[in-house]
Amino acid sequence: MTLFEKIIAREIPADIVFEDEHCLAFRDIHPQAPTHVLLVPKRPIPRLGAATPADHALLGHLLLKAGDVARALGLDATGFRVVINHGPDGGETVPHLHIHLLGGRPLAWPPG
Ligand code: 5GP
Repeated sequence: MTLFEKIIAREIPADIVFEDEHCLAFRDIHPQAPTHVLLVPKRPIPRLGAATPADHALLGHLLLKAGDVARALGLDATGFRVVINHGPDGGETVPHLHIHLLGGRPLAWPPG
């Protein structure tokens, strides 16, 4: 079981901000911005590059929900960023696909 599967199963506590049948959104334990939420599919995909055509609808659902959660958390007007880290150079540390939703401050570009 991945760490995020344990959070989905409520074996590890998390500050959950949204849930539906396909995904769970919860606050990152080490926030990099005033709002930092992780949105994860309940059906685990290791990382974006491991997704297949069978994941087409799930990936679309996750992006739509990222927008919904951003709006619900009041980030729509000021703006926000979504990030998916893949592999070592991308900074991936948990092998369960997750979308970072970051907002609440101006975010620099390019990223470090
Ligand atoms: P990655 O580096 O794989 O893109 O992102 C993994 C994220 O999971 C990191 O931002 C890290 O802070 C977060 N994280 C790691 N362990 C936990 C945990 O136990 N609970 C929560 N809520 N977030 C975690």
